[in-house]
Amino acid sequence: MNDCLFCKIVAGEIPSERVHEDEQVIVFKDIYPKAPVHLLVVPRLHVASLNELAPEHDRLMAHMLRLLPELARKQGLADGFRTIINTGPGGGQEIFHLHIHLLGGGRLPGF
Ligand code: 5GP
Ligand code: ZN
Repeated sequence: MNDCLFCKIVAGEIPSERVHEDEQVIVFKDIYPKAPVHLLVVPRLHVASLNELAPEHDRLMAHMLRLLPELARKQGLADGFRTIINTGPGGGQEIFHLHIHLLGGGRLPGF
């Protein structure tokens, strides 16, 4: 996946402001934040989107979901937070390496 921006960030070839990393994921600040806190939770493994998920990814996905409240707490988002997963061009996905947006701080607009 030589062309994938997030694979390059995972590999450290492109710098990012990491706030968390473990054996399955890295978490870094979005370069164009849409809220005071805007993190991207990115698996080390290249999976293009939710559409490519298979049963072998169940453990990874559970890990990503359970990490979110822990990250939110550490970012001081006591009031709550928003998570977004864009899927495909119709869903507004721009980087085709699965990621979860974690947003918060201040009052986010409704949908
Ligand atoms: P998507 O639209 O694919 O769900 O979200 C991609 C996100 O990646 C966008 O919010 C965009 O601001 C962010 N992004 C794009 N390029 C970079 C980059 O080089 N570094 C970081 N940290 N974020 C990026
Ligand atoms: Zn990738």
